[in-house]
Amino acid sequence: MPLTKDEINLMIKTAIETEKNAFLFKSKHAFGSAVLTTDGNIYGGCNIDGVISSQGSCAEVVALNNAVANGKYNIKAILVIDENEFVFPCGSCLQYLGQFFQTTNIDIEVVAAKVNGECKVKKLSQLLPTLYLSSSFDFKLKKYRNKK
Ligand SMILES: [Zn+2]
Repeated sequence: MPLTKDEINLMIKTAIETEKNAFLFKSKHAFGSAVLTTDGNIYGGCNIDGVISSQGSCAEVVALNNAVANGKYNIKAILVIDENEFVFPCGSCLQYLGQFFQTTNIDIEVVAAKVNGECKVKKLSQLLPTLYLSSSFDFKLKKYRNKK
């Protein structure tokens, strides 16, 4: 089922609220993100800098991890918010999103939104057509489908 305008608006609201919590001492720009699960829950994320660069996280990863920490693995959509331009997730975040795609086989909707509500929506398969899918972990990933 395609994303509704109401779902997008709720994700925008969550992403704007969560962006305020960004933990930045290296980055110059705060980002907010929101994940919508197939059962209608929304989880926010903000970017988090790390003193050791590899320990920093994009807002999208934090939003996905927030969903997982709440026991939700079936992702319908992810949104990134920016004040002035349409920003889609980086390649690393798209690949991370891919393991949730592999769990459900739902082609996740990826939304680039501005605070004024304008948005562009693409599918994960459009943004990363060469997504790496793990054959060796496929069975274990599928166990998270519909997990309660
Ligand atoms: Zn990223």
